[in-house]
Amino acid sequence: MTNMELGVSTLLWYDEERLEPHLPLLAAADIRHIELRHLPHHLNYADKDAIKRLAMALQEHSVAVYSLHVPDQFITDMAGLDEGVRKAAVAEVKRIAMALTKVGGRILVTHAGGVVNDEADRPRQFAAGQESLAELAGFCRDIGLLVAVENSLPTTARVGDTVAEVVRFVEGLGAENIGYCLDTSHANLSEDAVSALGLVRHKLMALHISDNDGQSDQHALPFDGNVDWPAFMIALKATGYQDVFMLEVRATQQPWLILQEARARFDQLMTMYEAG
Ligand SMILES: [Zn+2]
Repeated sequence: MTNMELGVSTLLWYDEERLEPHLPLLAAADIRHIELRHLPHHLNYADKDAIKRLAMALQEHSVAVYSLHVPDQFITDMAGLDEGVRKAAVAEVKRIAMALTKVGGRILVTHAGGVVNDEADRPRQFAAGQESLAELAGFCRDIGLLVAVENSLPTTARVGDTVAEVVRFVEGLGAENIGYCLDTSHANLSEDAVSALGLVRHKLMALHISDNDGQSDQHALPFDGNVDWPAFMIALKATGYQDVFMLEVRATQQPWLILQEARARFDQLMTMYEAG
């Protein structure tokens, strides 16, 4: 038996200004874990009172924050070639990390870097990203957070758009509290989710679970694309990962319908896991 529980990224409410009104839907679907996605809307990290209000609302609905996704702009800036902009982004992400601890979160999810416009710049962007993450990892260690680096969407050239590059990035840092977040959709567009999992299994900290057709980044529910879920669940069991099974899906229909469906698909996936 596994203790793995279902979680959902607030990507589901990406167009919503506030998260609190949607928390009862999670409780109704018996989903107890979230990843915070849309900042500052879903976590107004510069406002102490807003942080407190969110913490209270989470408690009221028995929803726990597992992780937080660093906003895309800061990910890009932290691996950018403008040193002033890079440093400002690191400082801002530190504020976000502090706020994450105030709402009970455990993991900061980020990427190695943003879009690579000129392949000649990739090594310098990679190095800038590493410098930022080394500093951020030290800060996060001191406040009790883990940092998980996610494989980027490979449809456009990005730092970390292959799992192998993400592994080089993380291993090169050698920080104890840095590991991996595996995004199954992104992996399905480059290699495949099962072999990607094999590369990061030794330091797997978080999952972004969704499906696609292998052509574009749909972030659909599992079984709505061509990820080999039976094989993935057996491989996941072999890793010993026991933390949150975080779905990162888009709102293609009413969120409450998606949450109901998410619960049903999770149960199917867990049957595969137990059978493996
Ligand atoms: Zn993701």
